[in-house]
Amino acid sequence: MTRLVIVGGGHAAAQLAASLAEKQFPGSIVLVSDEPEIPYHRPPLSKTLIKDPEAPLPELRGASFYEQAGITLKLGTRALAIDRAGKRLRLSSVAGQEDLPYDHLVLATGACVRELPQAPVGTPGVHYLRTYAQARALRDALPGARRVVVLGGGFIGLEIAATARHLGKEVTVFESMPRLLTRSVSPEISSFLLETHRGAGVDIRLGSTVDGLEMARGRAVGVVSGGAVVPADIIIAGIGATPNVDLARDAGLACDNGIVVDATLATGDPAISAIGDCTSFPHPAWPQPLRLESVQNANDQARTLAARLCGDPQPYTAVPWFWSDQGEARLQITGLWRPGYESIVRPAARGNGFSVLHFEGDALRAIESVNSPVDQMTARKLMQAGLSPAKGTAADPAVPLKA
Ligand SMILES: Cc1cc2nc3c(=O)[nH]c(=O)nc-3n(C[C@H](O)[C@H](O)[C@H](O)COP(=O)(O)OP(=O)(O)OC[C@H]3O[C@@H](n4cnc5c(N)ncnc54)[C@H](O)[C@@H]3O)c2cc1C
Repeated sequence: MTRLVIVGGGHAAAQLAASLAEKQFPGSIVLVSDEPEIPYHRPPLSKTLIKDPEAPLPELRGASFYEQAGITLKLGTRALAIDRAGKRLRLSSVAGQEDLPYDHLVLATGACVRELPQAPVGTPGVHYLRTYAQARALRDALPGARRVVVLGGGFIGLEIAATARHLGKEVTVFESMPRLLTRSVSPEISSFLLETHRGAGVDIRLGSTVDGLEMARGRAVGVVSGGAVVPADIIIAGIGATPNVDLARDAGLACDNGIVVDATLATGDPAISAIGDCTSFPHPAWPQPLRLESVQNANDQARTLAARLCGDPQPYTAVPWFWSDQGEARLQITGLWRPGYESIVRPAARGNGFSVLHFEGDALRAIESVNSPVDQMTARKLMQAGLSPAKGTAADPAVPLKA
């Protein structure tokens, strides 16, 4: 019987366990996570959970699912090292250390927050947001705060800014680049989000670097930028995430902005695979390896790997998609925007939403939609089928998007 061990307690790990159970994987499955909770949805942490004191843990699946599927959960347990020659994983928990043998090991270790050098995780007055524990800490702190400063105008920073503003806080966002979400979205979407957040009363400062934090009795009480201090009751650092590769790198596996895997999500060791935010993987539609931070990528990679582990190997080719809720704006993106594409703005047939379609020649490479779910889903289906809508009529909401 194959002994399968999954390291990680996030979307990728939970989906892999579920897909294997569904396919009646002929072996044992152990899921090892250093978080104390059963796997949960991460997206609500920055959207709904921090504003709702009653919100429970947004479980991906109830505890009974794992029990009934015969999946062993080792929670609050950290994987410390991989003995590749002996095919054993060294684990550590409050109960002590143990070695867990495996026939196949899956690394679904995700990513962790990038830390400010002057304010590592744990600095009083500074919050980071990746885990349920961190979301609860922020939720507990928000009611007592009037002035909230967000460092970083990325997805998570902007979602928190919108949520905090909705709660009536004075919110300031510092973004070092000249526009929001520079690497992730087109200038059209950046401008829209800037207007939306400013319209809601968020003070967004573009091109503003933070020189340091103002400290008082060991607690961060403000942000120093351009020689001035912006006082803050709470500072939230949303300056990105880095892939958790230590375990893989220390075991001699190739890592380069993620654990390097091939098209079937295998590492250089045939007994070890990797999935989710922690991977750097090839994709037929892009020349450079990708590393994505999205629920879609974590889930779809898990499904692809589950198929291989059950005897049906296939390359990972899923079209990337993503969403972000920022106040009233639901942003949905399919494909990946890159500078140089020909961009066409298409109003939604109803309401005030719109999409921006990005073409390379006649091929649709990405579509970004704001409150325009019908066009988003239509274009996504076309892209998933390897098709593109007609470019000539793409701007006309009266003409449906079709190939
Ligand atoms: C606040 C927030 C909002 C988000 N919103 C969206 C959104 O709206 N849309 C979207 O598509 N994506 C969103 N994301 C991104 C999405 O949550 C991630 O892409 C997804 O969680 C990736 O899943 P994963 O399983 O690869 O990694 P993770 O969810 O990071 O899980 C990795 C797990 O591995 C554990 N782990 C790591 N190392 C070890 C070890 N050595 N031993 C044991 N356990 C270990 C970690 O503790 C964690 O439980 C959001 C993320 C955050 C933080």
